[in-house]
Amino acid sequence: MTDYDLLVIGAGSGGVRAARMAATYGAKVAVVEEYRVGGTCVIRGCVPKKLYVYAARFNDMFDVASSFGWQVDARFDWSTLVANKEREITRLESGYTANLEKPGVEIIKDRAVVTGPNSIHLVGGKRDLTTRYLLIATGAHPFIPHIPGAELGITSNEAFDMEKLPHSILIEGGGYVAVEFATIFAGLGVDTTIVYRGDCILRHFDEDMRRGLEAGLTDRGIRLIYQTNVNSLTQAGNDVMAHFSDGVSAPFGAVMFATGRVSNTRGLGLETAGVELTAGGAIAVDAFSQSSCPSIYAVGDVTGRAQLTPVAIREGWYFAETVFNNNPLAVDHSLIPTAVFSDPEIGAVGLTEAEAATHGDIDVYVARFRPMINTLSTRTERMILKLITEKDGGRVLGCHILGPGAAEMAQLVAVPMGMKASKADFDRAMALHPSAAEELVTFKSPTYIYRNGEKHVG
Ligand code: NDP
Repeated sequence: MTDYDLLVIGAGSGGVRAARMAATYGAKVAVVEEYRVGGTCVIRGCVPKKLYVYAARFNDMFDVASSFGWQVDARFDWSTLVANKEREITRLESGYTANLEKPGVEIIKDRAVVTGPNSIHLVGGKRDLTTRYLLIATGAHPFIPHIPGAELGITSNEAFDMEKLPHSILIEGGGYVAVEFATIFAGLGVDTTIVYRGDCILRHFDEDMRRGLEAGLTDRGIRLIYQTNVNSLTQAGNDVMAHFSDGVSAPFGAVMFATGRVSNTRGLGLETAGVELTAGGAIAVDAFSQSSCPSIYAVGDVTGRAQLTPVAIREGWYFAETVFNNNPLAVDHSLIPTAVFSDPEIGAVGLTEAEAATHGDIDVYVARFRPMINTLSTRTERMILKLITEKDGGRVLGCHILGPGAAEMAQLVAVPMGMKASKADFDRAMALHPSAAEELVTFKSPTYIYRNGEKHVG
């Protein structure tokens, strides 16, 4: 007889969903969390990030407002944003707590260390607990490059609660966090520079989206430095001096690392239960989220599969179905819609053009136009919508959107794509006018095609 049926370590998106569902199915469940309930997404990730993106986007709105007849005298107050953000995430945190407590999940505020396949030790409370199943949902933390002076930099964890906005910021990295925070800081009036080791931001995205976003960031005054690393940081008065790999040094009000995230597996005692890790240090799991130790499962960022909240939630839910509802379900990670909440925004589902072109003959449909909101102003920024299909109107393989509403569109396009919709299915939908999304159902002939891997235009 164990103390619990399920002990969950980590009260983030995946852990909370798994705990709630398991308790709903009658299991005796406790969640151990050493920080705040809600995890990265709610406390220092998706939610505060999107609120800050909204704050930053007023800058663009004010810019076009005069073309609609508005005169705006705008001033921004950082401390108001931080305080209001804090109020909102505290509200969400208490909602998450209530959602756990309602089906009877016990919340233990402590740090847990695994001591065997069916046991943990609570570090603060200095007591041991036993359980039939253990779910590791400890998430991930920002990776900081091992360079001299790294402690002078910040990560997304600290960026949300800076005492005041810096006059300038250097962001290292070319992924989601780098471009989203660049959008935020630049929109709020901070002189913003991205330094990235590659030759264009967002390595895994469709090339047109990458180049389009690159132009959009540059238009908003964000400096992009490519094929360069930060070698070291030193203090320079109130500034931080960044010393780059090309020999150049420059001072910045703040330096932020957005260089990826590392699974939280260290110091967890997983070796005591024989839990195997991947080469990258994540927990290795099978399709049902079961680790190499049969009583230990893992979901979310700690497994390094797809570091996205909805994926963690689905993994947590399916874990509970599999283990506590006798309904084995494996998460399908093959068609995950994704968005980058930069300015302009990106929404994407399915294969990029480069990926699809290696899979067989494809047709590519591309629309580029000024979004309607810009048409009364002098802004020339283009929106891009791209549909990639099997040849001759076959199945839709990829959809990539850059511009206002891209994330919302990507979510909805994921539905027909999941149903294996063809170009003809898209064409059957009546257009909704005037909208940007109508382009996706009114493409006539391909902009270009690939046959045997060769691109043919016209
Ligand atoms: P990403 O993996 O997206 O990007 C990391 C970036 O850092 C890459 O450009 C990478 O370069 C670079 N990098 C990695 N290591 C080093 C190093 N040692 N020196 C210099 N540069 C380095 O990670 P993020 O931190 O941006 O985000 C983490 C994850 O969180 C994302 O993968 C995503 O899953 C999730 N997320 C999702 C969001 C959303 O859905 N909108 C928003 C924010 C995060 P390279 O490209 O060459 O590998």
